[in-house]
Amino acid sequence: MIKKFIQKILGKPQTTASGTYFGQRVEIPPAVHGIDVALVDERALNVVRTLQDAGFEAYVVGGAVRDLLLGLRPKDFDVATDATPEEVKGLFRRAFIIGRRFRIVHVVYGRGREHEVIEVSTFRAYLDNRAAEQVVGNEKTSKSELAGMKHAVDSSGRVLRDNVWGPQDEDATRRDFTVNAMYYDPESQYLVDYHGGMQDAKKKILRMIGDPVARYREDPVRIIRAVRFAAKLSPLGFKLESKTGKPLATMLKLLADVPQSRLFDEMLKLLQTGHALASIAQLQELGLHKGIYPLLDVVVERSDTAFVKAALVDTDRRVGEGKPVAPSFLLACVLWADVKAGWDLRLAKRVPPFPALQEAIDEVFEARIGDVSGRGKLAADMREIWMMQPRFEKRIGSTPFSLVEQARFRAGFDFLRLRAEVSEVDVTLADWWQEFSTADDVAREDLIQQAKSDKPNHAQATPGKARRAPRRRKPANKTGGSEAESSGDLPRD
Ligand code: ATP
Ligand code: MG
Repeated sequence: MIKKFIQKILGKPQTTASGTYFGQRVEIPPAVHGIDVALVDERALNVVRTLQDAGFEAYVVGGAVRDLLLGLRPKDFDVATDATPEEVKGLFRRAFIIGRRFRIVHVVYGRGREHEVIEVSTFRAYLDNRAAEQVVGNEKTSKSELAGMKHAVDSSGRVLRDNVWGPQDEDATRRDFTVNAMYYDPESQYLVDYHGGMQDAKKKILRMIGDPVARYREDPVRIIRAVRFAAKLSPLGFKLESKTGKPLATMLKLLADVPQSRLFDEMLKLLQTGHALASIAQLQELGLHKGIYPLLDVVVERSDTAFVKAALVDTDRRVGEGKPVAPSFLLACVLWADVKAGWDLRLAKRVPPFPALQEAIDEVFEARIGDVSGRGKLAADMREIWMMQPRFEKRIGSTPFSLVEQARFRAGFDFLRLRAEVSEVDVTLADWWQEFSTADDVAREDLIQQAKSDKPNHAQATPGKARRAPRRRKPANKTGGSEAESSGDLPRD
């Protein structure tokens, strides 16, 4: 059907010596693809226009085109061009070349929290696996020859270097899924498609470009990406094409060669882009529930426990509402059971509560997080959230005043709120803090008096057991204290 409308087919399909098919360039007019150009971000439009005015090709590309085509709101906009990173940088006031393995340009608009980044990548040449393997496998090849070589892969076919510029059809072919490999020119409003992405979008198929096994080998992270997109698009009825889905479980071991930090980042994308529960369901369905990354195994394992499930539901809801989410919060939830167990153990041995908690946390970091470099801030934030928990029970003197001023109070409070949701602490304790955090100083003193005249606090009692917080009158303005609003508009970070 759609083929009838296809306007131009330029040139013949091309293949490389190893048989890679670069597809056919198909230009699809707006009346056929139906993308509403008004939904394209203004800054992305500006980037495309600036590049085109300077004589370069430029398109919105990748996930944004997929989402526009499916009627979803893209979370970010990427631009692809035939300009080199240096040429791109020269055209914008605030543009930065970033990355080494994969050099791209960040064009930055606005400042502070409101700033926006448009990622601009130069069309990449396609890696010709077999040819490159031959060269890499040849012991006589010197390091400098390798460095200057068009492509470089290791013995399993993994791409090691990726900064070789090439024509658009090669750029399209090296992308992952057909629906992720379309280019949209917001000026002419034509969609450029080399691999039938538009038909697959209509048929709701997630199809890897080329031979899926070879593509997973080239970059095993595509295994995790397959799960992520299957989860994200499952509510729209998308399914993994069988050749794309079948090899996933058997190729899992390839992930052992991927740097831990990249796996960690991919894990966070699975959990923090609004489809955490769906991603976990996909992992289980595809037989990938174990073995991607140790911490992810723990998340999947615990996704059925009340607390972790509540945290995952909360995360999906927040992302859906456009609110920020911090990895420290979710991971603090996931590992809380370990912290609590270690804490209980030490308290039973009569270690004072705070050092006991400190030690328990150290032990958990050692066992579960390891030393993924650059995770210092994440770990510090998790520690702060956990260390705040016993302090929430000390509602005397100046403690509540200083606690509420702490930078990560909101995250610590949201954590307490989730604990209350699963009856680990009394809900009235969370309500008290909700009220205290929004009250003025006079009202705060009143609240402390109320807490004092209620049952005595057991701040140093055994953690992990639901204790009743002192009974108190419900705040008059309780309507404002719903969970949604409480975790509300203050960012956790
Ligand atoms: P999201 O909406 O979650 O951002 P996305 O499709 O935009 O999804 P990105 O990770 O932002 O995903 O990548 C942008 C585009 O770059 C992808 O659509 C795809 O074309 C290409 N891409 C990214 N990572 C890979 C990869 N590992 N292998 C092949 N192509 C990739
Ligand atoms: Mg993207």
